[in-house]
Amino acid sequence: MKKLFAFTALAVAAAGAFAQDFPGGKPITIVVPFAAGGPTDRVARDLAEAMQKPLGGSPIVIDNAAGAGSTIGNAKVARAKNDGYTLLVTHVGMATTPVLYRKLSYNYETDFEYLGMINDVPMTLIGKPQLEANNFAQLREWIGKNSGKVNLANAGIGSASHLCGLLFQSELKAEMTTVPYKGTAPAIADLLGGQVDLLCDQTTNTTSQIEAKKVKPYAVTTLKRLSTPALKDIPTLDESGLKNFQVTIWHGLYAPKGTPAPVLKKLNDALKVALKDPDFIKKQEGLGAVVVNDKRVEPAEHKKFVQAEVARFGPIVKAAGVYAD
Ligand code: ASP
Repeated sequence: MKKLFAFTALAVAAAGAFAQDFPGGKPITIVVPFAAGGPTDRVARDLAEAMQKPLGGSPIVIDNAAGAGSTIGNAKVARAKNDGYTLLVTHVGMATTPVLYRKLSYNYETDFEYLGMINDVPMTLIGKPQLEANNFAQLREWIGKNSGKVNLANAGIGSASHLCGLLFQSELKAEMTTVPYKGTAPAIADLLGGQVDLLCDQTTNTTSQIEAKKVKPYAVTTLKRLSTPALKDIPTLDESGLKNFQVTIWHGLYAPKGTPAPVLKKLNDALKVALKDPDFIKKQEGLGAVVVNDKRVEPAEHKKFVQAEVARFGPIVKAAGVYAD
C-alpha cells in the first residue's frame, strides 16, 4: 500500500514537472485533415506561426492527413499520444462527420480535448472560368437547363463545401453530380482547369481567385454582403432568391483526450495570445474570416458549440438523405 502511494506520488510529480516544462523546445505537430494549400491548412499555418512565440519558440509543424472529409486526420489525432505534442485544427467537419458517417473510428465528444475556437469563415459560390453564366440568375437558368449534368466539387463527405453543396442543391431542388477531393486546393485546381463546374468554399481560398478574376463569383453565403474589398460587390444567396440561405463555418483547436490539464492550459493560453496577435487578425480579415471573441476560446464553450452544431446538422442531413460508411 505504502509502495503504491509512493509510486503514485512519484508519477504525479513527474507529470507536473513534464507539464511545467512543456513544450520545452520540442516540436509540436498540428494535424490538418485536408490537403495542403486549402483553407483549413491556411488557418492552421497562420495559427502555428502566431502560437509559436507564446509557446516559448517551439517549432510547430503541419501534418496534412487528408481524406474522407477530414475523418482520417481526426482519427489520427484521437489515437495520438496525449502529451500535447499532437494537435488538430479542423473546421465544421468536427460536427458534420458524426452526422454524415454511419460509422466513425472516433467519438467527437469523448476522444478529444477541446482547446478553443479560432474563427468564423463565410463561403462563396464560384464557377469555372469557362461558364457562360455571369451572375446568379444566369447560373440558375443554366443549372435548370443542364439538370443532372452539372458537376459540383467538394472536399469530401462531411466537408464544409459538401455541406454548402447539399444545402444549395436542396434549395434549388436541382440534382448535381458531386465530385469529392481531399481538400479545397485540389478542387480549385480542377475548377480552374474546367474539369468541374462549381464549388462552394471558404473565402480563405476563394478570395484571391476572385480578385485575380480566375473564377466566376456568383454569391456569398452570408445574410449580409461581406466587407472584404475583393468580395464586397458579390450578392448574397439570400438576396439572389434563396431566402435565408446562410452557411458560415468555423475552425477549432483540439488535443487527444487525456492530455494533462496543465498542458491544456498552456495550449489554451497560447491560443488566446495568438488570437489577439494583430498580424494574425489582419491576415484573417483579409481573407474574409473573423477571429472569435474571448468567450468562444474557452474549452467548455467550444465543446458546447460543437454539440449544438451536431444537433443542428442532424435534421439537415436527414432531409438530404446523404450518409456515408
Ligand atoms: N474547404 C474545405 C472544405 O470544403 C476543406 C479544406 O481544404 O480546408 O471543407
